[in-house]
Amino acid sequence: MFRTHTCGELRLANVGTNVTLAGWIQTIRKFGAITFVDLRDRYGITQLVFNEGLSSQLESNPLGREFVLQAKGKVIERSNKNLTIPTGKIEIELTEFSILNKSVTPPFTIQDDTDGGDDLRMKYRYLDLRRNAVKKNLELRYAVNRSARNYLHENQFMDIETPFLIKSTPEGARDFVVPSRMNPGQFYALPQSPQTFKQLLMVSGYDRYYQVVKCFRDEDLRADRQPEFTQIDCEMSFVEQEDILNMFEGLVKRIFKDVKGIDYTESVERMTWEDAMWHFGNDKPDIRFGMKIHTLKKPSTVYFNKQDHSGLINGANFAVFDGAETVLAISVPGGAAYTRKQLDELTEWVKRPQIGMKGLAYIRYNEDGTVKSSIDKFYAEERLKKIVETTVSNKGDIVLILAGSEERTRKAMSELRLELGEQLGMRKKDEFKLLWVLDFPLFEYSEEDNRWVARHHPFTSPKPSQISTMIENEPSIKDASNYLSHPYAQIKANAYDMVLNGNEIGGGSIRIYQRELQEKMFAALGMSKEEALHKFGFLLGAFEYGAPPHGGIAFGFDRLCSILGGSESIRDFIAFPKNNSGRDLMLDAPSSIDDVQLKELNLKINLS
Ligand code: ASP
Repeated sequence: MFRTHTCGELRLANVGTNVTLAGWIQTIRKFGAITFVDLRDRYGITQLVFNEGLSSQLESNPLGREFVLQAKGKVIERSNKNLTIPTGKIEIELTEFSILNKSVTPPFTIQDDTDGGDDLRMKYRYLDLRRNAVKKNLELRYAVNRSARNYLHENQFMDIETPFLIKSTPEGARDFVVPSRMNPGQFYALPQSPQTFKQLLMVSGYDRYYQVVKCFRDEDLRADRQPEFTQIDCEMSFVEQEDILNMFEGLVKRIFKDVKGIDYTESVERMTWEDAMWHFGNDKPDIRFGMKIHTLKKPSTVYFNKQDHSGLINGANFAVFDGAETVLAISVPGGAAYTRKQLDELTEWVKRPQIGMKGLAYIRYNEDGTVKSSIDKFYAEERLKKIVETTVSNKGDIVLILAGSEERTRKAMSELRLELGEQLGMRKKDEFKLLWVLDFPLFEYSEEDNRWVARHHPFTSPKPSQISTMIENEPSIKDASNYLSHPYAQIKANAYDMVLNGNEIGGGSIRIYQRELQEKMFAALGMSKEEALHKFGFLLGAFEYGAPPHGGIAFGFDRLCSILGGSESIRDFIAFPKNNSGRDLMLDAPSSIDDVQLKELNLKINLS
């Protein structure tokens, strides 16, 4: 037998047993005539003892880090026990060993706190994967995968594979394309998601589908995105939104239980998109902490069907607020104690180009009930107190105020809230808070393309009560700057996102399943009839053969793993990831292809 046990398996109870182990050499230590070696495999580390005789064999045949070794010997109790590892009470008194393979010196240490930088570790990813820290992440990923599959299987979902060489599926990114040798001049697209296929499977009657599947999106890589990533992709027939929310809340709770041992018994909070944007400035709010945003002033043409407090700030002749589209406030617990320096730092923080604000105003609500503000030249004490009351501040808090254009200011306030939450220790890694965000707008207006675009994707259905708004109104807009007054801006989608600790971990929708409505949708997005037929004729055709009502969701598997693993980076949870420029440093891909291949594909490279 090649090995009788793994390197993580032997305990005091095995003392006296003759065993054979195989693994990689982690460390070699010489003590006089005796040599100690830590042997590592996927399961752990076991200490081997080379007695004088065996040690002397090593002189002509030296061992080195990462050599592959087979070791035979007897399990004995260790006098100098290492209680930090499960095998630390025993060691193996060797009788025989054989070097199965040598290793050159690895470019970085194979340890938890390695000396290797990111790029080096990516280049030698197969060595990085030997490290415990990375292995733990992959184990967690597998546990999430198994848990999801078990739950879905128990709920009659069927795993059905869908093709990778397809025609474009729009999820809002660019397609990766693959030239077809057999069809000169023609290309496949790699799926941005299996969206249309899972819908076709519903037409075919497979009423509960899932797949743990790769998706490909050629996006400009923002931090922590991967051009290929994995989704837990699901679809169900004969369901309403409520059924989907319940089923997939169940899935995530099951994963929490199986993977983290967490009993998430409370029902998942729900919030409309409008509330999320209004109170948190963001469609994926982190609700582990409060500190809601208060809108002191808003422009008349925004989605929000809510009251601002402009009466409190108008008419004070303060040009900055008077001239701003939007004025937002947030109250920071205990913030009245901020020093001048801390306030200056926060002001610098909001002025950074990524945040883009011109300044930060404040009102301290002192413990003695008085207020002190950076804008008290314009606002009398009474008004400042009213603002403080409106933002539900307590004595000892500070109200921070940002002013500017609607979109930028709301985003900036959202970022500031998250930053303050972080600074105040309110975003705890081991606390998990789920949220459903519902009722997204169906459309967004792209001023760049001068047309409506689907916020989720073009297969998402409007709220049933608003279908008539879509049918009865033409999409065209006369004045692009005033698009929010078009009826389409008010149409809400039957779409939902699942948010975990401020990250979108899943999203989906109830779909359109009637040909006419789908055609109307394509037209609303500025597609001609011919274009719609060319791109999606197969789906429109399928809808004529008895398409059932259906809906679904997809979870970002990599992101879910990284959050459960307490890491910022999805790369740490992918066995062979790409770097931030979309490169595989190990393979050195992408790379050019040779002329013969280009010729076969009828391609010419034209780099200007
Ligand atoms: N295909 C969608 C996405 O990738 C998810 C869904 O609507 O089910 O975001």
